[in-house]
Amino acid sequence: MAILVTGGAGYIGSHTVVELQNRGYDVVVIDNLQNSSEKVLGRVEAITGKKVPFCLTDIRDRIGLEEVFSKYEIDSVIHFAGLKAVGESVAKPWEYYENNIGGTLVLLDVMRRHGVKDIIFSSSATVYGDPLEIPITENCPKQPCTNPYGWTKSMLEQIMTDIQAADPEWNVVLLRYFNPIGAHESGTIGENPNGIPNNLMPYITQVAVGKREILNIFGNDYDTPDGTCIRDYIHVVDLALGHVAAIKKLQENPGLFVCNLGTGIGYSVLDVVNAFMEANNLTIPYRFAPRRPGDVPVNYSDPSKALREMGWKTQFDLRKMCADSWNWQKNNPNGYED
Ligand code: NAD
Ligand code: UDP
Repeated sequence: MAILVTGGAGYIGSHTVVELQNRGYDVVVIDNLQNSSEKVLGRVEAITGKKVPFCLTDIRDRIGLEEVFSKYEIDSVIHFAGLKAVGESVAKPWEYYENNIGGTLVLLDVMRRHGVKDIIFSSSATVYGDPLEIPITENCPKQPCTNPYGWTKSMLEQIMTDIQAADPEWNVVLLRYFNPIGAHESGTIGENPNGIPNNLMPYITQVAVGKREILNIFGNDYDTPDGTCIRDYIHVVDLALGHVAAIKKLQENPGLFVCNLGTGIGYSVLDVVNAFMEANNLTIPYRFAPRRPGDVPVNYSDPSKALREMGWKTQFDLRKMCADSWNWQKNNPNGYED
């Protein structure tokens, strides 16, 4: 039996495949490679010493998915495939709804036709909006999202919740990620954004490697100790291990299970910049810039449910996240391009 990993060539998916294979799980990866490279899978194989079965398939392609489910004995799905750029989703809402929601509806239908009803879904802390409580527990009410990307996560959570309620044979694990950064410690796989990075850590590493001149820190007048926004940064390997824990959780037939994956510690933008400089003995030039629309001032998790219910907690600190992010970037200044 194998775990189908959609979007397994992407940033979080590739790290998750490593941790699953290292623990003896069989996986099958599908990806349309629209935001990744097949080279990633060769690097995963070099880390784990195992072959990664791969199908170049789009989750919107029903026939392609049918073939995958017929060829392999799939017993569960970890569903990463999706578009994830917040700004782009504002400009191209149709593309985001069609890919993320349309694609997931096809996937869910093919799954049930093949009697596969266990799914782990990549959701996001974005569903909490400007959170009504800090730290954020899973009971914190969802808020209206500020962009189509966020809505795709919020709506897909609702769709899968409704499907599970209608058919209790389904087990649906909704994992709400906080801010994944870092890379595998080999420095051979990592985050590889197209164009100008939207997220903080890839921007910092691109400044460090000389691809960008200066980091703009969006806002230093928030109601936080140093005026910059606070987030819950989590090492991508810890996040990957959260999926291993969730696979074990599925064995308990949990029905619907919603869980935060974060460290529970909030760091400001300046904390991250300083930690990066200290961990790597580098200077990152930065300047303060106006606030970025849609940013919430403070967002960090209460991760105690993950510990209580899945026995999972994070291991890696901010220094390690910064060291591993830089190790990946400096060894691969152009990502997976030669
Ligand atoms: P990523 O872009 O690196 O990986 C997503 C993968 O899905 C890519 O390899 C892409 O080619 C593939 N893909 C996209 N649409 C597809 C389709 N229609 N069919 C097949 N493959 C398709 O992104 P990531 O950072 O690894 O994120 C993985 C998931 O986690 C996404 O759903 C994302 O929204 C979610 N998430 C990410 C973050 C984050 O900060 N990185 C935070 C919260 C949630
Ligand atoms: N940020 C920044 N400069 C950048 C990118 C991000 O100051 O070039 C800030 C951003 O305003 C936010 C924090 O870093 O306060 C984390 O941003 P990111 O986009 O990584 O995560 P998210 O906002 O989605 O939690």
